[in-house]
Amino acid sequence: MLAAQQQEQHIGLLGEAVKKDFPLLHTLMNNKPIVYLDSAATSQKPRQVLDAIQRYYEEYNANVHRGIYALSEKATTAYEHARFIIARFINAMPEEIIFTRGTTESLNLIAYTNVKQLRQGQNIVLTQMEHHSNLVPWQQLAKEKGIGVRFIRITPEGRLDMDHAHQCIDHNTKIVSITHISNVLGAVNPVKEIAILAHERGAQDCIVVVDAAQSIAHTPINVKELGCDFLAFSSHKMFGPTGVGILYGRKELLDQMPPFQYGGDMIREVRFEGTTFAELPHKFEAGTPNIAGVIGLAKAVEYIKSIGMEKIQAYEHELTTYALARLQEIDGLTIYGPKTSEQRSGVISFSVHGLHPHDMAQLLDREGICVRGGHHCCMPLMSVLQVSGTTRISLSLYNTKEDIDKLVTAIEAAKQVFYR
Ligand code: PMP
Repeated sequence: MLAAQQQEQHIGLLGEAVKKDFPLLHTLMNNKPIVYLDSAATSQKPRQVLDAIQRYYEEYNANVHRGIYALSEKATTAYEHARFIIARFINAMPEEIIFTRGTTESLNLIAYTNVKQLRQGQNIVLTQMEHHSNLVPWQQLAKEKGIGVRFIRITPEGRLDMDHAHQCIDHNTKIVSITHISNVLGAVNPVKEIAILAHERGAQDCIVVVDAAQSIAHTPINVKELGCDFLAFSSHKMFGPTGVGILYGRKELLDQMPPFQYGGDMIREVRFEGTTFAELPHKFEAGTPNIAGVIGLAKAVEYIKSIGMEKIQAYEHELTTYALARLQEIDGLTIYGPKTSEQRSGVISFSVHGLHPHDMAQLLDREGICVRGGHHCCMPLMSVLQVSGTTRISLSLYNTKEDIDKLVTAIEAAKQVFYR
């Protein structure tokens, strides 16, 4: 089959064809049909996920792991089945999946429970492109222990500087925590290579943490292949509800870590004299979890699988190629991050000469177009790029070429307003 024909086939399968599943995409914003280009902030939710949540509340709402009655057993089965589905999605074991509130809490959990293991003279290695969620917890941990944090530089093209990675990671490196895909630059980082480097050259017990918030809905992830020790992501960026996150951790490591929070559900036995803790994964899930959220997330994973991650990736690649080309036709527009779609996601940051990102976002809002303007929770990266903020679009499986055409027309119109 000709490449062009193949391309058209992908385009036909997604975009307009899946838009029907997302009720919000059929609404108006400022009296204009909505063009949603902010999926990196949060994705829209398909009807299948919304229905699953409603069904739980209407048909089997009960607490998990407690009741002996049928309703509670049904809720517990659905909750634990979700863990199984998510484990399979990333090639992990169910007991290696911990439900949290989001990527931020997952990363904090690792930082808090590894405090005691850090010794004087050790260091933590991050990158210049980390989201505050994968920077501030480590910075605080380092401050508390009086140890250093090193940041792997980015190249002028907006990719990770691997020569610098070799310099940063040494035998005193205890933690390497790195984003899989940048939420500003769209660059896909070579996490597998970094994991090998960290395990070969880092301290004997060096751990590799991957922030998969921006990759989980866009690229197949196999934790064994990546070679990471921990992986964190959020349900709401992968078509699931807000308030649920996942922490994957290698069983041997999770077994050794102390609990993160204490309370109900995470104990084996409590006496006045002391407490013993439950086995994995419950050791890390104190209190009533977000049952509806977890059930919704499982549906979101099933939704992704029903389309196929490879198809999603191929479709988004084509769309990103198209968006990069169209945006680069605009006079005065600068793209931050790789300018070709190789090893790149559909997160595209840009600025238009003379226009503040907030003004740009506001003008696009009038046209029904949702984009993000600002520092994107990456203030240190903004200082490296020497900007106060950028305008960011982020593509997903429900976006179309038409969405991008509308964006380009609206940017040209915004320029007219400002350059007048
Ligand atoms: N890391 C990255 C790369 C992100 O893009 C985000 C969300 N913007 C987070 C972490 C934090 O995710 P959450 O707010 O869901 O905890």
